[in-house]
Amino acid sequence: MADARILILGAGPAGAATALGLRRLGYAVTLVSDWRRFAAVEGVSQRVLDGLRHGGLGGALAQATTAAMREVHWNGDRLRLNEEFLIDRQRFDQALRDDLRRAGIELIEGRVREVRWDAARQVQLDDDRVLTGDFLVEARGRQAPLSEGRLRGPETVSLLNLWQGPPGTPASAVESLADGWAWMARLADGRCYWQVTLDAASAELPGKARLADYCAARRRDSSLVAAMFGEQAFAPAQVYARSSTAILAGVCAGQDWLRVGDAVMAVDPLSGNGIFQSLSSALQAPVVINTLLRRPDRAALAQRFHQTRIEQLFLRFARIGRDFYAQEQVRATGTFWAARRAWPDALPIHAPADWQAVTVERRPVLRDGFVEEVEVVVTPDQPLGVWHLQGIELAPVVRGLQAGQALEQLVGGEDQVMVRRWLREQGHA
Ligand SMILES: Cc1cc2nc3c(=O)[nH]c(=O)nc-3n(C[C@H](O)[C@H](O)[C@H](O)COP(=O)(O)OP(=O)(O)OC[C@H]3O[C@@H](n4cnc5c(N)ncnc54)[C@H](O)[C@@H]3O)c2cc1C
Repeated sequence: MADARILILGAGPAGAATALGLRRLGYAVTLVSDWRRFAAVEGVSQRVLDGLRHGGLGGALAQATTAAMREVHWNGDRLRLNEEFLIDRQRFDQALRDDLRRAGIELIEGRVREVRWDAARQVQLDDDRVLTGDFLVEARGRQAPLSEGRLRGPETVSLLNLWQGPPGTPASAVESLADGWAWMARLADGRCYWQVTLDAASAELPGKARLADYCAARRRDSSLVAAMFGEQAFAPAQVYARSSTAILAGVCAGQDWLRVGDAVMAVDPLSGNGIFQSLSSALQAPVVINTLLRRPDRAALAQRFHQTRIEQLFLRFARIGRDFYAQEQVRATGTFWAARRAWPDALPIHAPADWQAVTVERRPVLRDGFVEEVEVVVTPDQPLGVWHLQGIELAPVVRGLQAGQALEQLVGGEDQVMVRRWLREQGHA
């Protein structure tokens, strides 16, 4: 299958990173995508910039240079938090496409109407073109059709407002509201952005025609909006409504298909981590696909690797979001807050250390371009297992300790301090 043709649907960060990774492995890739039709500003962390660089997306990286200090008004506190980088999503997505073209990836502009990935392996576009391939990557973000067995958080909607003001210093801020929260940003060229996130079931939203007035009235209620945008705070805005419910797709991979990015796990925008998550799932995808195509004997292992990684990542981020919502005590009783402080469950983000529960198991890992099963150390907090600690394989160390050997017999002098620290964190006396 070295000459397998791979079809990717969706040219957002996930589809783009997957395409470039597959190209590096020598695959012929065709990417088909519609272009984003609405304007949006998003904030990303340094980790995303590192991910873009690592993924070969230099043009997109160059779009994320506007650094802004984030002001946070939450639970009655006012904090100036970490720096975030502001991106204009339409320009960012254009830069992704330029990166793909530069890498020699075939890019087709078109809207997918129907996917028949049975024996036919066909994708039909709105203009009746039909595309075929050997492997399908579903990267159409939140617009990807959902599969069975999915997990959904409380239904959530975000209203995106964009308007023009005079140029100024870039800034961003987030504030809690009685029935949701708002994120706002000002770009250096004076574009102003305000995005309010509400409970889709309980918010009493007007029809489309009156949405802009509704948003303008809500902006008037906020002293933070007035402080950030000054006289321009209430200028008429272009408004767009989007679903922002957290969703984990059911089955994430098959023998000849894989889901990546928001199509496999869409996180709550409160985390500000959507693009990071998309890149994370897409950076592992090429190796999973390579295994599915070239080592069909390991197909089940490769699918398990992708599925368990995605599920674990999603739940960890959902619990981080839950705890952040729970920090908001002033608003705790409202419907929006009550639902989100209890979802997805009551389990802690990190399981407490317990040396007695530490075991050595066989689990899938990535090695030399393939998914492979090796011995790893499974702990209560790392159910998928830890293989290496800075290059030191941990399974032989844990086996040796459990058989009564001393650490000095198992690990060389200079590495002992690091391994001892890790063991202590796992509850080893
Ligand atoms: C309200 C809101 C605010 C957010 N704010 C942030 C933030 O501040 N920071 C952050 O990191 N993340 C944020 N996110 C999340 C971020 O937008 C996504 O996680 C990220 O864009 C997902 O990347 P992706 O490649 O999986 O999908 P997308 O970026 O959605 O890309 C999917 C691509 O598929 C195309 N497509 C869709 N349907 C079809 C079709 N039928 N045919 C052909 N093409 C199609 C689309 O046009 C698009 O180009 C936010 C999300 C929401 C909802």
